[in-house]
Amino acid sequence: MTQRVNLLNLTPSDAETTLSGAMSELGQPSYRVGQVLRRLWEVPAASFDDMTELPVALRSALHERFVLPRLELTERQTSTDGTEKFLFRLHDGEAIETVSIPDGNRVTLCISSQAGCALRCAFCATGAMGFSRNLEVYEIAGQVREVRLLDPPIEVTNIVFMGMGEPMMNWKAVDPTLTLLNDPRALGIGARHITISTVGVLPGIVALGKRPEQFRLAISIHAPWDELRQQLMPINTKFPLKEVLEAAKVFDRRVTFEYVMLGGVNDGIEQARELAALARECRAFVNLIPLHPGGSQGFVPTSGNEISRFARLLRDRDVEVAVRKSRGMDIAAACGQLRVERLGRRPPRAAEQHGDVEVV
Ligand code: SAH
Repeated sequence: MTQRVNLLNLTPSDAETTLSGAMSELGQPSYRVGQVLRRLWEVPAASFDDMTELPVALRSALHERFVLPRLELTERQTSTDGTEKFLFRLHDGEAIETVSIPDGNRVTLCISSQAGCALRCAFCATGAMGFSRNLEVYEIAGQVREVRLLDPPIEVTNIVFMGMGEPMMNWKAVDPTLTLLNDPRALGIGARHITISTVGVLPGIVALGKRPEQFRLAISIHAPWDELRQQLMPINTKFPLKEVLEAAKVFDRRVTFEYVMLGGVNDGIEQARELAALARECRAFVNLIPLHPGGSQGFVPTSGNEISRFARLLRDRDVEVAVRKSRGMDIAAACGQLRVERLGRRPPRAAEQHGDVEVV
């Protein structure tokens, strides 16, 4: 028997073509295509059996040809502030995290793009566990699908690629995933409500810039000069600050600089001045991130007062700046922390991963 096709790995247009072929082979009217398409993402069904609007015989015919793989929810933790953290197990036993952050009318879902991460940023829990593998399209977009399948469902309004992994090192899957997240025939989330966060993988930034939709780009800067950035982010050897800033400058939409506040390391007056200069040069918005202490290996958070002072120094230099609210402190909701608690750290499989970014 030929392998059943995973409909959740296809963009809406490809799924439509595939389903049209199947429906005509099965002698079904063409409106069935739209009925099934709608149940992939828009009003997700847990299985073909749950598509009760279809005749029973058609449901089993679809089941013979196609799969709709689930991610297995193995843990769910709820913070006192409403933040929720999910641990999903994948078919090969890998584990990934997803965090849901409600704020007023918005619910932001922080999703993972890789199992583990190869980049080893000094303060990051995911970096410490090493890289296992890239996620497939259905595993990245599936995180949104799974929380919409909960009872009651979580109605996600915003997406940030700030969970485990470096999205631009998995562009081959992230690119079609963006289509699924945004397309009204799939998850229908506005492009301006979808943010891709990267350490500055240049070909990925170029590829994102070529997409016509207004997806948002956030770049992890974390230090205003190479020497310090190098210590915090080993990837700086490959993508040095100067080139990353150049890419930010030519990106056709406004970018956000992420800057995690590390006590006594990158939070001094000199750093604030230099960061302000860089942000102005790139017309970037700066997001100061309080360090999430869990799993951050010897670093200490900058105090709230000092973060405010640092923010003021930037503002005085006409830089737009926001301090990110720390959420889920009681459930270790930062990048990679839940998986580390559950599975322990594991040796990396690849020291460096060269990624699937293809630039045309
Ligand atoms: N690889 C991408 C996206 C994942 S991490 C990137 O690095 O941008 C999303 C953000 O969380 C990054 O800015 C990352 O540096 C930051 N981060 C990692 N560990 C953290 C911690 N312990 N506390 C606060 N922010 C952290």
